[in-house]
Amino acid sequence: MGHRLSLLMVEDSETDAELVVLELRRHGYDVALERVDTAPALSAALESRRWDIVVCDHGLPSFDSRQALCTVRESRPDLPFVILSGTIGEEAAVEALKAGARDVVLKTNLARVGPVVDRELREAESRRRLRGAEEALVESEARKTAILDTALDAVISIDHQGRIVDFNPSAETMFGFARDEARARPVSELIIPLSLRQRHHEAFARHLATGQSTIIGTRIELTAMRADGSEFPVELSITRGDLSGRPFFTAYVRDLTERKRAEGERASLEAQLRQSQKMEAIGRFVGGITHDFTNLMSVVGGYSQLLLRDVREDDPRRPNVEEIKAASDRAAELTRQLMAFSRQQALEPKTLDLNAVILGIEPMLRRVLGEDVELVTRLAPDLGPVRADPSQLEQVVMNLAVNARDAMPTGGTLALETRHAGIDRDADEHRGPLAIERGSYSVLSVTDTGAGMDAETQSQIFEPFFTTKEVGKGTGLGLSTVYGIVLQSKGFIRVESDPERGTTFDVYLPLADARADLPQPADPDTPPARGSEAVLLVEDDEALLRLVHQTLEADGYTVLAARDAREAIDICERRHAPIDLAVTDVVMPGMGGLQLARELRARRPDLKLLFMSGYSEHGIGDEERRALNAGLIQKPFSLPGLGRKIRDLLDAT
Ligand code: ADP
Ligand code: MG
Repeated sequence: MGHRLSLLMVEDSETDAELVVLELRRHGYDVALERVDTAPALSAALESRRWDIVVCDHGLPSFDSRQALCTVRESRPDLPFVILSGTIGEEAAVEALKAGARDVVLKTNLARVGPVVDRELREAESRRRLRGAEEALVESEARKTAILDTALDAVISIDHQGRIVDFNPSAETMFGFARDEARARPVSELIIPLSLRQRHHEAFARHLATGQSTIIGTRIELTAMRADGSEFPVELSITRGDLSGRPFFTAYVRDLTERKRAEGERASLEAQLRQSQKMEAIGRFVGGITHDFTNLMSVVGGYSQLLLRDVREDDPRRPNVEEIKAASDRAAELTRQLMAFSRQQALEPKTLDLNAVILGIEPMLRRVLGEDVELVTRLAPDLGPVRADPSQLEQVVMNLAVNARDAMPTGGTLALETRHAGIDRDADEHRGPLAIERGSYSVLSVTDTGAGMDAETQSQIFEPFFTTKEVGKGTGLGLSTVYGIVLQSKGFIRVESDPERGTTFDVYLPLADARADLPQPADPDTPPARGSEAVLLVEDDEALLRLVHQTLEADGYTVLAARDAREAIDICERRHAPIDLAVTDVVMPGMGGLQLARELRARRPDLKLLFMSGYSEHGIGDEERRALNAGLIQKPFSLPGLGRKIRDLLDAT
């Protein structure tokens, strides 16, 4: 069996058709023949199946070979068409070949038909392959275009002269040029910032000359430029190809703006976390020391005061005692600041209006700031109330104002501003040692036009003893105190500073639900400290107990001293005479001051109470103290201070 051949013959003579078939069989083909002799039959046959070749008689009676050729070309352009003729003239043959016939075989030379078919089948096959390859090429082009069109990265093709050949839609959005604007222009002019252009030219020239490159085949990060001249970070990878001996380059560019922003945000959150952890650690450390220090300072201060009473004005030892007293006062002040920082101060929060606090200390601020600093206040008219200790809040404003003054040695402006602020995103506003929590706040901004701070300084300012001022000028405790007071009042603080423009501190205090109490006028006259009532005194620190005991006795009181709650309850139960006031420490081994106060009240409902506290956080809350209608004195206290407090309580009805 030879090669199978589907042969369509356009031939009126059956005999001639038989002859062709015979000849082809002899040549080795297994011929399947269909013979047609009219135009409609030809069309129908072409549609009916696949053919290898058409052989057409030149001298048909019903229609001629030219017409047949047209029909075949139209429906099967690749199908070989061979003319068979007994009589064709040279001219007609040339005509037919021009019209697309593949060959003309004379009936007198039928032996040619076999080789002609061989050749036609071969050529038809290679035409088919070529067409397939072309189609594949078109298809791959289309696919490539689709990829480039939807690629998230900018893809830019560049020729050997550095000119843009292609620019995909992502490139259009990323750089802000339309494809047509970009094409044929030098890539350097279009998307490389001026500052990098020279380096680009050199590297490109070196690559063309030597084939070397530090960029091709690797990913690099650099800065690119948009149509509007703005610069942005990108990641870039370049591949090189060769086209007819000339290199061309494809650059894949990814916009890193968003990623960098997120990285920056993460880094700043981490920095903030580190900072807040550091502040916590310092706070615990400082808190531990100050706790022990408060009692010591009360004792030193108290005894030096007692000594001063006894040592006469002209006694040569008096100056020494005065020195001890002065040093202990300074130490007590230091301790007080450290306690503020470590949030151990006992606050006396009131519901108040921030504006009223500022108006109240404005005259004092003006004196502190001096003539060269202009004070401007911008107070929001409908500011919500906050809950804070008014004198502590004044301390905050004062410390910030003093720092601002120090930052403006040649004068400037200090602005105090209040406003409402709602924080509704967690990541918002992280410019201080702690991220501000969601919520509604009244905000106090203190802005100066002074020297400002760099980032390094800003990250340390709230630490105790951090100062940039000369020895003797700064203690480094101003902002630590501010920090402690604000945080203890459940607020937040943030700083924004620029060495060119100055500094703003924002103090965020949470809105309180109640309406503002009226600002309380300070008590002008100091009440007398002496008395004759019976005072139950409870303190586990023996030195402090002795000191207060002696003092109160010297002031005329009857003092019943106890070293712990047990002892105090005993005294309370055994004594038949009245006890007017119990003065008790808060944190003590065994039963604490709060529980003791309740026990005492249960036994003597009229008993007045005063807590001595160095430990607001772990000791006694605002609410509990109010429920007991008890007074509070903050350790370390001065003895006259204690005396006044006791007198106040005893005199109150
Ligand atoms: P001190 O004022 O004793 O140095 P602070 O705790 O009040 O301590 O301030 C710490 C440091 O913070 C200052 O030494 C100064 O470097 C910086 N600082 C505070 N406030 C400002 C401000 N308004 N402008 C510039 N720097 C400031
Ligand atoms: Mg200061």
